[in-house]
Amino acid sequence: MESWAYSGLKRIIPYVKNTHIIGITGSQGVGKSTFIDRIIEEFSKENKSVAVLLVDPTSEVSGGTFFGDRIRMQRHANNPLVFIKSAPSQSSTGGLGLSTWWMIETFCATGFDYVIIETVGVGQDEKEVKEAAFTTVLLLSPSHGDDIQMLKAGLIEVADIIVVNKADLPEGELLAAYLSKFENYSENGWKVPVIAVSARTGKGTREVLEYLDRHLEFLKQKEMIVKKHHDLIKKALEKLFIYFIQTKLKKGEVYDQILHRLLSGQIDPFEAVRELFGAYGLNSPSNISVKTPPSSFG
Ligand code: GDP
Repeated sequence: MESWAYSGLKRIIPYVKNTHIIGITGSQGVGKSTFIDRIIEEFSKENKSVAVLLVDPTSEVSGGTFFGDRIRMQRHANNPLVFIKSAPSQSSTGGLGLSTWWMIETFCATGFDYVIIETVGVGQDEKEVKEAAFTTVLLLSPSHGDDIQMLKAGLIEVADIIVVNKADLPEGELLAAYLSKFENYSENGWKVPVIAVSARTGKGTREVLEYLDRHLEFLKQKEMIVKKHHDLIKKALEKLFIYFIQTKLKKGEVYDQILHRLLSGQIDPFEAVRELFGAYGLNSPSNISVKTPPSSFG
């Protein structure tokens, strides 16, 4: 996102938002692009506007936009209700890039009915998509043995809706039937539905859309929408702040000097952190001490 765009944000952030932010995640090849393409089609039939952010862990390597199979979605490019954009991920291990958080908020404030954030299920992605989206859809497919591993690894916890894609294949129906036996509830008490879908034929897509509406309604009843927006802005601000701290550290001669003193045994790590705060004109948090190490030091 350009810097001028950031300065415009203060004029739009305070406005009331009615956008449904939807995260769609799943391994490479489960059919996310095909599925999103279908959903865009359905939204368009209802005259609903949609912004799609394609988060790409490879974009840093490829130097920007890398649509690959997502080229399919480009058939909607001339539709004025549809905006599709590739967004770099934070790093090759995933996570939403700094500007992506602000882009989501910009799309909300400018009145899109839906914002879809698509991520390939790697590293930090699922966690961050969950933080950014109101509703997270996890796509699985029978041709991905990996998916069972993901389920075991607790990935299922990110899902508000589980879509078993490729249900036109017999294994797809079987997987959906198997997963439906488990009763999953998200932390706020929402019962996670398992829906058999064929993005190829369109079967099951309407059911997913109904569940998306139901989930939004559920969040509204629990008065969670405003909180979700606050959390999103909070996270975006945190990322921006950390970005500038990191930039400062990377460039800092002072940093190298403090590092040198640490390496040569003149100061301990907590003293180093205190000195860094001082060097950059910040008040050192009172809890930086060897007596109260962060729990991860445990
Ligand atoms: P992505 O990497 O998750 O975005 O997956 P794609 O949408 O690019 O799909 C990967 C492959 O699966 C492509 O060859 C699609 O044609 C195929 N595919 C997608 N959806 C379906 C489906 O519902 N049924 C079947 N049989 N194949 C599908």
